[in-house]
Amino acid sequence: AQERYASLRNLPAQSKCGTVTGLMMNAGLMADLPSLDSSGAEGVGLFRTELQFLIRNQMPKRDELARLYARVMDAARGHRVVFRTLDIGSDKVLPYLKPQDEPNPAMGWRAIRVGLDKPGVLRMQLQALIRASAGRDLSIMFPFVSEHHEFMMARSHLLRELHRERSLGHPVPVNIRVGTMLETPSLAYAPRAFFETTDFISIGGNDLRQFFFAADRENERVRRRYDVLNVSFLTFLEHIVNRCAETATPLSFCGEDAGRPVEALCFAAMGIQTLSMRPASIGPVKALLRRVDLIEARKVIEMARASGAETVRPAILEWLATQVD
Ligand code: PEP
Ligand code: MG
Repeated sequence: AQERYASLRNLPAQSKCGTVTGLMMNAGLMADLPSLDSSGAEGVGLFRTELQFLIRNQMPKRDELARLYARVMDAARGHRVVFRTLDIGSDKVLPYLKPQDEPNPAMGWRAIRVGLDKPGVLRMQLQALIRASAGRDLSIMFPFVSEHHEFMMARSHLLRELHRERSLGHPVPVNIRVGTMLETPSLAYAPRAFFETTDFISIGGNDLRQFFFAADRENERVRRRYDVLNVSFLTFLEHIVNRCAETATPLSFCGEDAGRPVEALCFAAMGIQTLSMRPASIGPVKALLRRVDLIEARKVIEMARASGAETVRPAILEWLATQVD
């Protein structure tokens, strides 16, 4: 199988219907970057910047971060890298920050909430990203945004830092795309202005799923209790796809489920354009996407939905068994 995946490396994830799904990889450390070539990923769809903060015992300095981000972009050799700003919660404790004692850290003071309430670190990180990408493209996304206003506030920090760099006479990125992770159900119902303003949306399926089903992703007993191919979840994805389509907002999915071939197939069939996953999943996902017709897959999903099934998984698996290579 490994050889078969290697032979697909330079081929697109083009399904029989002609649709090409973008496949990107998730990363967080410099050591992940060589996988870009070996996996054939189009770029890094999610760069988890908190890992750099978690592996240290003191707060990294701006210039040190800027050098690191520049090295990440150098290693990506022109492929897109989407940097997600710090997603630190009370569960991911930084040794050099005072731990918060929260009853429900996953829905506590984390990610962009910390960034907006105590903007020092966020602004330092934004400066580092701007400096690292002088003269090239920069893609940034903010984690755990629950409402339009939070996105606008985070974005205004970025614009302010950009303005500051310019007025200091420093070179700035050529083109900046500012996106949002959709990890809380509320954001799917944000005003149209949000969808118009964000340059792209990436569904953080790990968190979105935990909040959609109210099932803790860290709790072995419940984390896999509800199937992500549950009709209710796919209906919710359909809503997000439609909202993004209204404003032509690019949509991707970057949670772990995007790296599971059957799930990836269903997400693509629902209209999600790009999937970002661990590098080792790219081969298997691409192999399956190339083998099927997404329009047919969508019909199977719709029939399962109409039949009143709770999850579309059995119907999709049964259909897949009839699909020849
Ligand atoms: C997610 O929530 O799906 C996601 C990609 O972010 P993380 O797993 O880092 O929370
Ligand atoms: Mg998340």
